[in-house]
Amino acid sequence: MSNKTALAFMAHPDDAEFACGGVLILLSRLGYTIHIATVTPGDCGTMTHTPHDIASIRTNEARKAAALINATYHCLDERDGFVVYDQPALHKSIDLFRQIAPSLVLTHPLKDYMMDHEMTAALARAASFLYGAPNASPFRRLPQSAPPHSSTSPPSPNSNPKCSPATPRNVNGSAPTTAWTNISNR
Ligand SMILES: [Zn+2]
Repeated sequence: MSNKTALAFMAHPDDAEFACGGVLILLSRLGYTIHIATVTPGDCGTMTHTPHDIASIRTNEARKAAALINATYHCLDERDGFVVYDQPALHKSIDLFRQIAPSLVLTHPLKDYMMDHEMTAALARAASFLYGAPNASPFRRLPQSAPPHSSTSPPSPNSNPKCSPATPRNVNGSAPTTAWTNISNR
């Protein structure tokens, strides 16, 4: 694989650390450039702080955690608890993908206990498919842009075991290999 760029695209600060922190460390050791993005700054994740204060605390934590593996942190600044799959959120997602050109994307299961996670997974799936299309974003299309390998993270223990993650497909209709089983095959 010539483009070794991984993007963890998650809903909230700390999601990547809990869901795929070990994989990101491994990928970093394998020479991947790592990006960690959260759709929200986690502004509802508190019982005591104001939205602005907790968002500042959590994004600073996320930035410091990313720095430990030389990763870059990004935040799309949608509202915690109110992530929806709509045009503004999708444009933000595609613009981010466009600037990163990931060859590997890790995100939430499409069926999850929290809707923010499901909406984020849907945004990741759509952005993975679209970001390389020339007219999809005003940002310059990087030459390595291509539909990435995508993997939803394993279902959480609280999710319905009968609901397996949907499998994204490349534009040619073939199913990509998952990040969990075959990360070095492309
Ligand atoms: Zn979360």
